[in-house]
Amino acid sequence: MLDKYNRDINYLRVSITDRCNLRCAYCRPKEGVSLKGHEDILRYEEILRLVSQAVKMGLVKVRLTGGEPLVRRGFVQFAAALKKIEGLQDISLTTNGVYLDRYAQAIYDAGISRINISLDSLDKDKYFDITGGGNLDDVLRGIAAAEKAGFAPIKINTVAIKGFTDDEVLDFARLAYEKPFQIRFIEVMPVSEVNFRHPETFLPMRRMFDIISREFSLELSNEHKHRLDGPARIFKIRGGRGEIGFINPVSEHFCATCNRLRLTADGKLRACLLKDVEIDLRDALRRQCGDEELARLIRLAILSKPAGHDLDCTDRSLKKCHRDMSGIGG
Ligand code: SAM
Repeated sequence: MLDKYNRDINYLRVSITDRCNLRCAYCRPKEGVSLKGHEDILRYEEILRLVSQAVKMGLVKVRLTGGEPLVRRGFVQFAAALKKIEGLQDISLTTNGVYLDRYAQAIYDAGISRINISLDSLDKDKYFDITGGGNLDDVLRGIAAAEKAGFAPIKINTVAIKGFTDDEVLDFARLAYEKPFQIRFIEVMPVSEVNFRHPETFLPMRRMFDIISREFSLELSNEHKHRLDGPARIFKIRGGRGEIGFINPVSEHFCATCNRLRLTADGKLRACLLKDVEIDLRDALRRQCGDEELARLIRLAILSKPAGHDLDCTDRSLKKCHRDMSGIGG
């Protein structure tokens, strides 16, 4: 599925719910979000139909996200049904890990091959604060369960925030030294009504690299250059078991190689996280539209993909999407 700029769009991130059991400060507005009603959210059968059609057109990779995917009932059965779609090569999950202790083995057995767990702090109190009440022990138990279930490598997503993450960068590096985890520091994006202000909260990769280099030696991992690692820049920790990655959507745009589409929880296809152009598929799906119409709408979304976004780490303004990350699927 080529877009106007000759990028092969073969990756879909699906937000299966806009609901979440955490309230991360950078992800949701302080005053809360208006959650969609059950009827507004795509049914699992609708997502399966859409993915089947997109696979016929060249989609090979799906990531399930949200909101928190594991709060939606029937998730494991849905993942197993997705796995049956012929031609779909890779199904992955992004989760906050709170319920993983309960579901890791079943999810693995259902055919989800890769998992990213979001964890912004290794300190109980800081974790509680940034997640609006989360319990760090739940996530640590979830990570252990994912390891036991057989997920490898486990990727840990850590949003990097100046004044918050700085004094934990080394602790995360120590974790990656001891465990076969890939810790990925992600630049905080000033989207929606988040409480974080750019550039005051912007923590550059160079600074994190320097902090880690006080104790460890990092080597760019060649192995990853040819793998499906997306935009992450991955480093091995010399002598250690894991890796450190940096994902810099703000300071180093990777739009030229972006291969993604996003499906929002309420059934809109969105070709760029940071542009509010969306193509509605829910209506067509609920009218039991034919495959040609579905294919036409998917193509329309792909053709709406812009060359790039204009986020900039020195920009003081908030780039407001009309939705929160939880609705779009971060
Ligand atoms: N609930 C799941 C989780 O926590 O992983 C999946 C949804 S969450 C929106 C997906 C990812 O988006 C998380 O790793 C989160 O840290 C990241 N995220 C949310 N808002 C962000 C922002 N403003 N900048 C950077 N990353 C953000």
